[in-house]
Amino acid sequence: MSLRKTIAVVASAAALSVGLIGTAEAAPRVITYNSSGAAEFVAAVDAGANVWNTQLPNTLNLRKVTGPAHVTIVADNGWPRAQTTSLGRGRIWMGRLAVNEGHDTIRIAAHELGHILGLPDRRTGLCTDLMSGASAGTSCKNPNPNAAEKAQVVRNFGRTVTVKAETFQDAA
Ligand SMILES: [Zn+2]
Repeated sequence: MSLRKTIAVVASAAALSVGLIGTAEAAPRVITYNSSGAAEFVAAVDAGANVWNTQLPNTLNLRKVTGPAHVTIVADNGWPRAQTTSLGRGRIWMGRLAVNEGHDTIRIAAHELGHILGLPDRRTGLCTDLMSGASAGTSCKNPNPNAAEKAQVVRNFGRTVTVKAETFQDAA
């Protein structure tokens, strides 16, 4: 490859990466969710979405819709879980088993949305961690991501990342 061509390739790659980062920072990424199947958890799901919108207003905007959506949220009798298909897209089950044990429904919703936003489980047992999930116990009602969790979501949306199709089974 000639020197001139090498420089051109490097320059275009740099422009591409700057463009991606600039776009992500310039406008919140709108992620629609349809919770019409979430039964008694509709209000908790809205509150969980509002947590993320309030915590990261410049990064993302979770918006409720009644039609086709990036995220489908339903209720069932299993454990809460999330299935991602890509960053910002997937399906959430608001499982009643955890609710019946006494886990907080808004924390569950915010946690499962965290998976959709590219966060993995970290079962630290700490209530200050959103992604510690059920490991923090039923007394934990904190629905807010900590600083590191928020920073990770900002990083996820600020660059091209691959969130592979995966199911997070949230049994205790
Ligand atoms: Zn989880």
